[in-house]
Amino acid sequence: MPSNDADQTKTKMDESSTQFDTEARGAAGSDASDTSSGLLKRYKDIPNGYRPILICMTGSRKGVRHKIDKKHTIIGRTQLADFPIHESAASRRHARIIYENYDRPEEPPVCYIEDLESKNGTELNGREINAIAPLKERDRLMIGHTILGYFIRDLAELMHDEFLYNNATRDPLTNLDNRQQMISHLKHFMARAQRRQTQFCFLVADVDHFKNINDTYGHLVGDEALKHLARLMQDEIRETDFIARWGGEEFAIGVADSTLHEATMLADRLRVKIEGNPLKLNDLALPLTVSIGVTSLQEGDTIDKLFQRADRYLYEAKVSARNKVVAGN
Ligand code: GH3
Ligand code: MG
Ligand code: MG
Repeated sequence: MPSNDADQTKTKMDESSTQFDTEARGAAGSDASDTSSGLLKRYKDIPNGYRPILICMTGSRKGVRHKIDKKHTIIGRTQLADFPIHESAASRRHARIIYENYDRPEEPPVCYIEDLESKNGTELNGREINAIAPLKERDRLMIGHTILGYFIRDLAELMHDEFLYNNATRDPLTNLDNRQQMISHLKHFMARAQRRQTQFCFLVADVDHFKNINDTYGHLVGDEALKHLARLMQDEIRETDFIARWGGEEFAIGVADSTLHEATMLADRLRVKIEGNPLKLNDLALPLTVSIGVTSLQEGDTIDKLFQRADRYLYEAKVSARNKVVAGN
């Protein structure tokens, strides 16, 4: 049963990380709806009152929040799961949360957890469950190697959490992840690739002669160009790749389970797409190009080493021509 004690709930909020829910994220380059009014609009149809939510506490989805808002919520390795878990120890359809009174949001939520005959079982507060078990605030579920917390939040708390998380992890101009968030993802993906002996590649793209654009057309047009580029790149990469605004006019992309050759092909697709899609503003069609450095994860790499290598190839692309991809290890 949820507590109505505001102080108690506040402590629970602080205890979990102040991160958000990926589903609520806007597309790259769209107006970031991480303002209070944007959040208000998105939540306007949700009745006030307490909502059950899952917070991922470990792994690459650490901090991701999922609002439980339907009768059955499937947790599992399949991308079709309501709450996907990206790790092999989780079964495709691993467990289910049953929200008994989901259609009566004015009531305190009543939820249960059920294991769906998963290979490695589902643990509730350290014990494997063998029957449907009721959930209470702050329960911990373990699915594979992923720990999920079950919490109950009211609308204002959800909005506040999301607002803080968006501001901490997103670049407000392009709506892409910021560098800190990219570094957090890189840690997980690099460790996973090293553990599993799979390939991981890293791209750094830098806009060519961007200073000229600012100098000629002004900073506002420069900003529009950055949003435009973010959108073009975000649309081209796969669901499992991740992109961030690394710095001023630099973008970084992590590419999981791909060879250096495949990542180089992706970089070239991005380059060609950008070259072929000038920024259109009124009568203006402003040509844009990027140079990209590509490298793949090597044994003993740190994030710094990986970045420095990609940056070295980016530099080679710049000095040799621009509008060019250079790759290497
Ligand atoms: P190169 O081809 O060698 O990369 O040349 P460049 O002009 O792109 O590189 P340089 O480092 O000389 O200039 C980068 C410019 O990017 C300078 C800076 O003012 C601009 N910039 C960085 N962040 C932003 C931003 O958020 N908005 C705008 N409009 N400009 C930005
Ligand atoms: Mg630069
Ligand atoms: Mg540049």
